[in-house]
Amino acid sequence: MKLSDHVKRVFILGMDGAGNFVQQADTPYLDAWLKRGAYTYNAQAEMPTISAECWGSVLHGVTPDKHGLDNDKAASEAYSIQSPYPSLFRLAREQLPDAKLAAFSAWAPINSGIIEDNIGVHKFSLSDERLTEELLAYIGVNPDVRLLFLQLDEPDGAGHCYGYGPDSPDYLAAIKGSDERIGRVLERLEALDLVADSLIVLLTDHGGGGENKHGHGSPHPMDRNVFWGCIGPGIRQGVLPGRVSITDTAAIAALALGLETPGWDARLPEGLLDEDAEADGGKAETDNG
Ligand SMILES: [Zn+2]
Repeated sequence: MKLSDHVKRVFILGMDGAGNFVQQADTPYLDAWLKRGAYTYNAQAEMPTISAECWGSVLHGVTPDKHGLDNDKAASEAYSIQSPYPSLFRLAREQLPDAKLAAFSAWAPINSGIIEDNIGVHKFSLSDERLTEELLAYIGVNPDVRLLFLQLDEPDGAGHCYGYGPDSPDYLAAIKGSDERIGRVLERLEALDLVADSLIVLLTDHGGGGENKHGHGSPHPMDRNVFWGCIGPGIRQGVLPGRVSITDTAAIAALALGLETPGWDARLPEGLLDEDAEADGGKAETDNG
């Protein structure tokens, strides 16, 4: 099968700064939904393990040294236009001119500086709860959206404030809160019958508490190890055996949308696709019976 023939829309649903502490936090929705697809608790954030660098890689498909984004540049609306690597959103706009595209980012620089302006992306930047409500309202009237991104920010805010890690109750509570919001989104998708023909990526951009209890940015495993999962038609169920980078999100999203990609660092994780799902459609199904 050709993956893009079976995927009508792609959802990239993320929370900021949760690392793989979702294993210690109470996250019933993630626990259940990750098992419906391919997942790992040992995916790797990019270096440095900072939001703009990492979300930049998720959305631009290349490592931070190539996309060049940092928190200051992301906050400057001019930068994304100069970037030599287009975002996944820009690729989608160029190759799917009429597609509905939407980005719900609690951390505003994602919308202002990481995803290009003036390419017809429906952008919302609000606090986590209001953002979730906006997304639920949006999907109800736009079930034909092709690419939708969500970034919730409270785990990272709680980590900076109270400290990251399994011994920080307020941090774990913020992860639980994000799990509930993403869970509401997933349950709405299910209620609208949008799960079977969607590709859903669940992820975080980095962890924290490695070299600095109240920060992140280092290569320490607490900063760098993250959960990552993908659910959809043609996606295997079970733990991914090999290395996964958050950057690989761009590759699977592009494949699912049928987009031609530039020279990206993003790769399809080993073992992600069912054996009958073809990465390039080259081994086409016999379609004439
Ligand atoms: Zn972050």
